[in-house]
Amino acid sequence: MSDRKVRVRFAPSPTGPLHMGGVRTALYNYLFAKKHGGDFILRIEDTDQTRYVPGAEQYIIDSLKWCGIEPNEGVGFGDGPHAPYRQSERKEKGLYKQYAEQLIESGHAYYAFDTSEELEEMRKRLEAAKAKNTSYNAISRQTMKNSLTLPADEVSKRLQSGDPYVIRIKIPRNEEVRVKDIIRGWVVVNSSELDDKVLFKSDGMPTYHLANIVDDHLMQITHVIRGEEWLPSAPLHVLLYRYLGWEETMPQFAHLPLLLKPDGNGKLSKRDGDRLGFPVFPLNWVDPVTGDKSSGYREKGYFADAFINLLALLGWHSSGNQEIFSKEELAQEFSLERVSKSGAKFDPEKTKWFNQQYLRMRSDDELAHLLAPLAHERGLTSDISFLKKVIELTKERAVFTADLLDAPYLFAAPEEFDSTAVEKKWKPESGALMTEWLACIQSVDPFEAAPLEAAFKDFLAAKNLGMGAVLPLFRLAVTGQGMGPSMFHIAEVLGKSEVVKRIQAAITKLP
Ligand code: GLU
Repeated sequence: MSDRKVRVRFAPSPTGPLHMGGVRTALYNYLFAKKHGGDFILRIEDTDQTRYVPGAEQYIIDSLKWCGIEPNEGVGFGDGPHAPYRQSERKEKGLYKQYAEQLIESGHAYYAFDTSEELEEMRKRLEAAKAKNTSYNAISRQTMKNSLTLPADEVSKRLQSGDPYVIRIKIPRNEEVRVKDIIRGWVVVNSSELDDKVLFKSDGMPTYHLANIVDDHLMQITHVIRGEEWLPSAPLHVLLYRYLGWEETMPQFAHLPLLLKPDGNGKLSKRDGDRLGFPVFPLNWVDPVTGDKSSGYREKGYFADAFINLLALLGWHSSGNQEIFSKEELAQEFSLERVSKSGAKFDPEKTKWFNQQYLRMRSDDELAHLLAPLAHERGLTSDISFLKKVIELTKERAVFTADLLDAPYLFAAPEEFDSTAVEKKWKPESGALMTEWLACIQSVDPFEAAPLEAAFKDFLAAKNLGMGAVLPLFRLAVTGQGMGPSMFHIAEVLGKSEVVKRIQAAITKLP
């Protein structure tokens, strides 16, 4: 690594909600910066106004905040020495035009005046001629209206009279372009496979390619860590650095593997999430135009730290077998060399497993405070010390915080009894048996799990009965259910008088 300070950026376009793959890109940039004591920048690439979606930028900012992947500089994070960080604002400052003009002067770019009809005609003509490449390139440009084919005075006349134009890069005809990728090694393409991409439009708007390179250069970016879908653009970007005279300080590239569908191949999409019932976005999102809803990890009940932990491991692995990492540990361990080339298959079950691990790592007190508003919303008590007792019983099986409330009988006496359990376990003589057990319960003091269990065992011995013959009846009477956490602990939480009341009620209600 050179001695320049590491500076990386996440550069999303605000075209909709940020996919979890995008969050992973942001995360890897963040971790890389932290690992190397560098800076992490958020730049909003909004040059394509036709794809702009209101609210998308705020969504990106909110998502990064929720995940705790906070940039040092950038839109929504207090800006910094390279402000503004929104490309539309940088365009207003005239930041890009000079570089497009510099490329024209050095002969690496040219003006093109073709109308969309003419471009369409060109494509059809090349298609009809079964040309291998139907794009605007070293060959086809010779037949089009541009500053390479038109006489110089006509070009100036058109420019002066305000004819619409674009500036295109002049890709050389047959040249090897080499891109060194940290994850993939050398990627080599022949320039004949590239086309003369538009860099700048007469309305003063740069395209993604020009703005991206200019900004990465001006913002002193040292490493470009981005999704695999940008790999085909990398040779063009290398040429732009070269033609602008910036090759010496060109960032290093790392193209991240795709997130793949859980079943089969292809990129993980919102449709897969809808079909298989998991979110592919960090936060809920409602499309402002179509009203289409997308669900988010946050609202599903995921912890942000679990979410970034699982994301980190989608495409990267640690040096050992460890799977649970705090953000700080991830930053310590992270390295681009251990990012895999091949796509990472998304596993929704594993995603839940991560949340469960993080739930178990939290103290009962912390969980009780998280649970209190939820309990309140459901009209249940939000008393912290009571919730802590609930959590002790429900924590083992819970995946999400809300699951900790999956024991309604701890909050109120059952109104109904599980019919399968009743059918299987409650016999005509069960009422009498419970009445006897009730008598034993009365003398248990203190009314706590251990002495209660001891009393229960004595009762079984005296009656010469097995656990399986009596415990389900006790459970059914008190909770209305056939299964659940330790009955003696449940009883302790409820207290003697409530347990007694419930058993009495069950005896009268059950057949
Ligand atoms: N604006 C591009 C995107 O939306 C950025 C690609 C890059 O990081 O260079 O992903």
